[in-house]
Amino acid sequence: MASYYNENTVLYLNGAFVKASEAKMDLYSQSLHYGYSVFEGIRSYKTVKGETRIFKPVEHFERLKVSAESLNLPYTWSAQELIDATYEVLKRNQLQDAYIRPVVYAPANMSFNLNTESLIFIEVWEMGAFLGDKLLRVMSSSFERPNPKGFKIHAKAAGHYVNSILASQEAKGKGYDEALLMDMNGNVAEGPGANFFYEKDGKLFTPSLGNILPGITRATVLELCDELNIPVKEKAFTKDEIYGADAAFFCGTAAEVIGFQSLDDQPFKLSWNDSVSKLVQDAYKNLIVENKRELVNEIIGVE
Ligand code: PMP
Repeated sequence: MASYYNENTVLYLNGAFVKASEAKMDLYSQSLHYGYSVFEGIRSYKTVKGETRIFKPVEHFERLKVSAESLNLPYTWSAQELIDATYEVLKRNQLQDAYIRPVVYAPANMSFNLNTESLIFIEVWEMGAFLGDKLLRVMSSSFERPNPKGFKIHAKAAGHYVNSILASQEAKGKGYDEALLMDMNGNVAEGPGANFFYEKDGKLFTPSLGNILPGITRATVLELCDELNIPVKEKAFTKDEIYGADAAFFCGTAAEVIGFQSLDDQPFKLSWNDSVSKLVQDAYKNLIVENKRELVNEIIGVE
């Protein structure tokens, strides 16, 4: 198991900075018993200028608020106060390249009733830029993503991740790197912790919003495609459209942009380095360490 903290690690807990080894959570919390909490996955990177920069912090903390409110968890924090707290936690742990995990959770409550308050912590641990040079062997999962009529699927709710864990464990148990899940209509949805794109004839395609988590990396990829003049379409499609496509990738805060080697053992037509998807990967890499303009210009041939 990875080591997320040691005796010196500090986290943010309900307004205070406390040692991770001394922080306490109520074992009677409704969140622990019923998977009823919301969270975020954010990253900070050391920029080319040597500064620590949290990537898209406002977007992440706004999604945390939307997630909490969608689940009727009271939410009382401003994005700015949580961003400030996160920078402080990073500083206290002397981390620049890090993964940041805020969790909003419920107090002791064994019933299904509403709470009058929520609680929050923010943990950080080291995570270097991943750069996605490995390609993934992916299998289409026997698990479907949760039905949006049964869950608030646009919320990053802890309970949804039981589905992610089952799908990922199934794929790994069968010797694959990761799973690709369909939605309840049999259309492609997303990975256990990342959104999906595929490439055909120089165009990218990704599932429309509705049955997936609205990923911040997905939104960034759409913006980058716009800047790079790469045509991209959001639509519903089945996995049959992916077999025989030119390339495919997952994107997410942790995964960044990572290409597929194969889906269900069927390889893609282009080698990753010849794909348009690789340009998106390069542009994303560059964006997270903040010298975006130069790389985008290089790709589109502008001085
Ligand atoms: N889908 C799921 C199910 C996820 O857990 C994640 C990771 N948060 C994503 C997509 C990608 O979202 P983001 O780009 O905001 O990290």
